[in-house]
Amino acid sequence: MSEYYHSVTLDKEKCMGCTNCIKHCPTEAIRVRNRKAQIIDERCIDCGECIRVCPYHAKIAVTDPLSVLDNYAYKIALPAPTLFGQFKNLKKCDKVLSALKKLGFDYVFEVAKGADIVTELIRDKLDITDIKKPLISSACPAILRLIQVRFPNLLDHLVRVESPMEIAAQLAKDELHKKTGIPKQQIGAFFITPCAAKMTSIRNPIGNEASHVDGAISILDVYGPISSYLKIPDNTEKQQRATAAGLNWAVTGGEGQALGIDNYLSVDGIQNVIPVLEEIENNKMSELDFFEGLACAGGCVGGPLTFENGYVAKNRIRLLAKGLQNSPPDDTELEYVKSNLEWKLQKNIIEKPVLKLDQDIVTAIQKMEAMEQINRNLPGLDCGSCGSPSCRTLAEDIVRGNASEMDCVFKLREKVKMLAQEMVELSDKMPAGREDRKRNDNS
Ligand code: SF4
Ligand code: SF4
Repeated sequence: MSEYYHSVTLDKEKCMGCTNCIKHCPTEAIRVRNRKAQIIDERCIDCGECIRVCPYHAKIAVTDPLSVLDNYAYKIALPAPTLFGQFKNLKKCDKVLSALKKLGFDYVFEVAKGADIVTELIRDKLDITDIKKPLISSACPAILRLIQVRFPNLLDHLVRVESPMEIAAQLAKDELHKKTGIPKQQIGAFFITPCAAKMTSIRNPIGNEASHVDGAISILDVYGPISSYLKIPDNTEKQQRATAAGLNWAVTGGEGQALGIDNYLSVDGIQNVIPVLEEIENNKMSELDFFEGLACAGGCVGGPLTFENGYVAKNRIRLLAKGLQNSPPDDTELEYVKSNLEWKLQKNIIEKPVLKLDQDIVTAIQKMEAMEQINRNLPGLDCGSCGSPSCRTLAEDIVRGNASEMDCVFKLREKVKMLAQEMVELSDKMPAGREDRKRNDNS
């Protein structure tokens, strides 16, 4: 596995080089060169912002097709809580769970149930006094990567508990194995995902060697077939086990509310999360117990792979949650998880700074000085027409050898003007030619 797997990719054919996406990328991971966008692997956090803003649909999220199920003898669906907010007039989540079985899954296990358990595991951490506060949620993989790339000083604040998806996958495989005797290697567990970042976190997990989830299928790919099944009346048996609190993890504030603490802050939309992380980094929020940042507007309901408007989905989740009980997992269940599952992150989450200009510190300082010098000579308009998101990033690209000053249209214009001027001056100094002499003699 390469160090950087990304679900978000570019369809080069469709890209028109309009530069729309470069300004919206929170980690300055996109450049437009030779009229085509390029994603810088080490900077991209798979937040999906560029998918949302590309007018030509040239940015796409690669997820597994439904045909991937054919590779496994037994298949488990792990629906994200957000899935239930996609369907009009849905009274109970059970119908969606049944529809997933009709789609080819043998077993379903709600990730919202995983969220119920994770809530309790995090609650334990909140009581530990020597943990850096605020504790920062690690539920959104795009925010996790953002912290690795832009806020490495905050890595110690992260909740070191597995995500609800990973807990749900382990519990589901355990259950199916116990019920049927099917070896776990023959069971495939698939997350029904609202976002690209989850796909990336399955292929390239943070804080663990490998994921317990075998793939991710986009909500967009199952929306149509599930909607058709929902139209067929049936007597669906009760299957749902998640509580209202688990279901609410789909929306901003759901995790904080589930924890039942007062002193938490929830922020959605990656451009809103960044200034809050800056504040936390500057020690301005040390009185806060818990911070929940979600990359998409409204939380996972606003994910780029969802069908329904995020606000509509949020309201539906609220209505569905009203009909559910709010009894947390009991002690036996929690004890089982703690004794039998991998519920803590096993590996250190390492920083992935992208601003390092060179491995050698002296060379890095020299390059930084050169970059500052170049930046001072650029117009400072951050217009993006050079294909870099700002003048500073163009200066950085020049120092890294990936761009030239002439990529700046203003610099190019200056240079053309200067050359034109030089040509005029040169032509004035040139000795008169035969034609000129003849013209002069005749006059
Ligand atoms: S928004 Fe980005 S990816 Fe889409 S066409 Fe414009 S440059 Fe290409
Ligand atoms: S997915 Fe996010 S981080 Fe990656 S290139 Fe697109 S906007 Fe930038």
